[in-house]
Amino acid sequence: MRFVSRLEWGARFPTKVLIPLRPERVKGVVVHHSGVEDGPDGLDAVRSFERYHMDTRGWDAVGYNWLVDRRGGIFEGRGPFRGAATRGWNSRSESVCYTGWGFQEVPTVALSAINTVIADIQARYGHGLWVKGHRDLSSSTCPGDWLYGWLTDGAEVDGGAPSEIDWAAILAYLRGLEAQVRAEPLSRLRRSRGEAVRVAQRHLKHRGYDPGPVDGIYGRRTAGAVKRFEGDMGFLKPNGVLDSDTWTALFVM
Ligand SMILES: [Zn+2]
Repeated sequence: MRFVSRLEWGARFPTKVLIPLRPERVKGVVVHHSGVEDGPDGLDAVRSFERYHMDTRGWDAVGYNWLVDRRGGIFEGRGPFRGAATRGWNSRSESVCYTGWGFQEVPTVALSAINTVIADIQARYGHGLWVKGHRDLSSSTCPGDWLYGWLTDGAEVDGGAPSEIDWAAILAYLRGLEAQVRAEPLSRLRRSRGEAVRVAQRHLKHRGYDPGPVDGIYGRRTAGAVKRFEGDMGFLKPNGVLDSDTWTALFVM
């Protein structure tokens, strides 16, 4: 299953260590929707869910295990870790959230992607999980009447519409950060902070250079990690300043 990983969409680092689901306890798959009419879609929707879940609800990461947008793009939420979106069932299910509005007809590509995610989850557990709408497990209208009806009618899709990931949106987002870095390199001296710092920290961490907490603040440990990375690359000035050359190397080398 091809999906946009947490690293690719720039997920924030969880505030607590995520707990893997115990396969023998997992009984089903729960389908949700955004609960918002005309809300954002794709990458914007995933990022706004993350903000809402972490900053407003105080959860340790985005609540859903997987998300599917209107174009059928699949995003990793928590992946196969204990979720937060289905009260009472978070250690016994994986969730998939349609980032559109399930009271209206859902595009075929999105339905097809939801089925892809469900099939992938089923295959990982291999003991025949049930599939339910959120409303079956709590007093909620989620995932909307149309999507719920489709699910209970057998979740059939006409034609094998391939899911489509909006890589252009992800690229535009990364390009925007890169432009910021080009205009003003990130450094400890500048006390840089924000999204570009956070994304760089996440990539440093992923590559084994410990930047300290992934908090969007360019402190001593982040500067040290950048300096080590620059030194290891060999062709970058090892000064602990994250300029556009270092940024590019961090993403593509
Ligand atoms: Zn729900």
